[in-house]
Amino acid sequence: MPSFTRFAPSPTGFLHRGHLLSALWVWGMAERFGLPVLLRIEDHDQSRARPEFVAAIREDLIRFGFRWERASIQSERDALYRRYFEFLQDEGLVYPCSCSRKSLSGERYPGFCRDREVPDPGTDGLTFRFRIPEGIRIVWDDLRLGSFEENPSEPCGDFALRDRLNQWTYQFAVCVDDIDEKVDLVVRGEDLRDSTARQILLMRFLGRETPPRYLHHPLLFSASGEKLSKRFHAVSLRGELESGISPEEILGSVCFEAGLLDKKAVISLREAISLILQCSKSFF
Ligand code: GLU
Repeated sequence: MPSFTRFAPSPTGFLHRGHLLSALWVWGMAERFGLPVLLRIEDHDQSRARPEFVAAIREDLIRFGFRWERASIQSERDALYRRYFEFLQDEGLVYPCSCSRKSLSGERYPGFCRDREVPDPGTDGLTFRFRIPEGIRIVWDDLRLGSFEENPSEPCGDFALRDRLNQWTYQFAVCVDDIDEKVDLVVRGEDLRDSTARQILLMRFLGRETPPRYLHHPLLFSASGEKLSKRFHAVSLRGELESGISPEEILGSVCFEAGLLDKKAVISLREAISLILQCSKSFF
C-alpha cells in the first residue's frame, strides 16, 4: 500500500482563499515528493460539520482542477477510533475529566482530574484526556522551518481525545488517520505548527515510531492583518466563482497575495503549482 500526503479540510464552512493556498502547497509537495494525494474530510466535530459543506469542498476543488487518488471521511471511521482509544485506555494513558470549560481559565489544562477517582466512563458530559508523561521533549524537523525541540505538554497540558459531546477531537482523530492512512508527508498551514509535537507524541503511543515529514506553509492574511478564516468571514471561493471571477483569476490573485507573484495575473493551476515548487526551492 503506497504512502500519501493529504489535504484535510473541515466541512464547517465553504473553502476560501486560505484553503486554496493550502491545496496548492499540498498538491505541489505531492509532486515534489512523488506522493499521491488523499482528500480527508475532517468532520469529527459533528456539532459544526454540515453535509452541504462536504459536497461543496469536493465540487470546489474539482472546479479548480485538483484531483485526488483516495478520499476518506472521519464520520465513517468511528470503529477505528474506538479501537485506538481503547488501546490507550488499556495502557492507562486516558483519564476522564469533569472540569467545565468555565472552571478552567487559560489555554493550558492544569491536570485537576489527573489523579481523581475514576468515575463511571458511561457518565455523560466527561472529557477524556491523554495523560502526557512527565518530562518528555519532542525533537522534530519541519521541511521549511527547520528543527524544533518542544515539550508537548506546554501549549495545552493533557489534551482531550474525546470531548464532552462524545466526539473524537481533532488531535486524536488526525493521529489515528495519519497512522491508518499511511500519511508520510503532512503539508498544512503554520497555524497548526504548535500541534505537531503533541501529534508526534500521541502517534508514538499509538504505535507509530517514525512520524510523517511535516511542512507548515505560510498563511494568507486579510487586509486588516488577521489570518484568513471562516471566523473572520473570508469570502468563499464558491461566492467568488458565482460572482463571475474565473478560477484562473482567483489562482493568480492568491499567488500574488502569497507573495509568489509580483503582480496580479490570470494563471492556470499548473502555473500556480509551479510557483509553489519554485518557492520551495529556497528551503530544500
Ligand atoms: N482540518 C484542519 C483544518 O481544516 C486541518 C488539519 C491538519 O491538516 O492537520 O484546519
